[in-house]
Amino acid sequence: MSPASKTKTIPRLRLRVTAAAETILRAGHPWLFAESIRDQNRKGSLGELAVIYDRKNQFLALGLFDPDSPIRVRLLHAGKPVIVDRGWWSARLEQPLQRRQFLFDEQTTGYRLIHGENDGWPGLVLDRYDSTLVLKLYTPAWLTRLEEILALLTERLQPERLVLRLSRNIQSVALNQFQKADGEMLYGAPPAQPVIFLETGLRFEADVLRGQKTGFFLDQRENRRHVEALAGGREVLNAFSFSGGFSVYAARGGANGVTDLDISSHALTSAARNLALNQSTPAVRSCRHEVIQADAFEWLGQNEQRKFDMVILDPPALAKRQADRAGALHAYQTLALSAFEHLRSGGILLACSCSAHVTAEEFFHLVRDAAHTSGRRFEVFQTTRQPPDHAATFAEGEYLKAIYLREA
Ligand code: SAH
Repeated sequence: MSPASKTKTIPRLRLRVTAAAETILRAGHPWLFAESIRDQNRKGSLGELAVIYDRKNQFLALGLFDPDSPIRVRLLHAGKPVIVDRGWWSARLEQPLQRRQFLFDEQTTGYRLIHGENDGWPGLVLDRYDSTLVLKLYTPAWLTRLEEILALLTERLQPERLVLRLSRNIQSVALNQFQKADGEMLYGAPPAQPVIFLETGLRFEADVLRGQKTGFFLDQRENRRHVEALAGGREVLNAFSFSGGFSVYAARGGANGVTDLDISSHALTSAARNLALNQSTPAVRSCRHEVIQADAFEWLGQNEQRKFDMVILDPPALAKRQADRAGALHAYQTLALSAFEHLRSGGILLACSCSAHVTAEEFFHLVRDAAHTSGRRFEVFQTTRQPPDHAATFAEGEYLKAIYLREA
């Protein structure tokens, strides 16, 4: 007997789960929590495929195992048994690509190609910025399959380069166990400067190696388009501006002036460069630009003499955990109230929230309430959720919502 055939093959990792979890998984929820596991045939290792069986010992689902996460398995598939081979992965990649087939024309070369769980790739995001791809991982489970995934992506999408980004909570595991660092190149040469891409015909830069998210807030595209349509003849305050995305659209929409307010000087210099990138558009060229580097909560609370015809509020997630909710709701209420103080009569407020722990209903209610408290009469004329390349397919995937009000 050859030595190889003597080595015992490791049995497949098999899990059985509570009845409640079974129902949830069958209905398509992508997470199996550790406390829902009733039975496990052996210790599992990071990134291996775990097969989940139902009470009748029939195949229920399979997914990526993570022994150290409360989300113990991130589901890849539920339903009939499947063999996860290269063909399966390649078909899996086609699904999100198909979904985006009719969403963008050549005037938009920056958008999300794979939106994690919602696209059947749990904990994995892939963004396109022109010919640069950015792969962002939220679970270390994918690091065990990086080579396979990389081969698949580069072959199918033919990028010039592919950058690896890692969520903060997996950076030390990535470095210690996989020698992978945030911002490292997986394919191609690093860009000499920020990558330039198009969104609705406007040019923007993205700091794909170090910037927040994957370098740009692609999820605000639809709201930026609405702002363009509303900004004509207005003075616009873009609070929490980051790299000034809303301001560039407002400028093209005919705003008289745009003011970027952010605490980060890095964000504000990027905002100035993004306006500079679009100077060939006459409306952008003739729009005044002001920059204020300050804490927006303080600035809005203190400078009530400064009036605008439109105020945009797009703070970072104020409730990062369930426990922060009460504080976050209160902070947002204060923020919205002070924003109304800065609005001239007939002014427009766009208030956005990206906290997954605050529901859209709660948020809309809160902003309406602040409008009421202001003593003026504001009308809600639009609310929005996530754009189609960031669509949510389960409750926890819903994070972005926005509400538009105009003084009646
Ligand atoms: N509206 C932006 C995205 C905003 S991201 C866009 O469409 O691209 C949140 C921004 O808020 C970041 O740029 C961050 O620097 C800034 N920020 C965080 N805390 C802040 C504070 N207290 N005051 C002002 N800006 C703040």
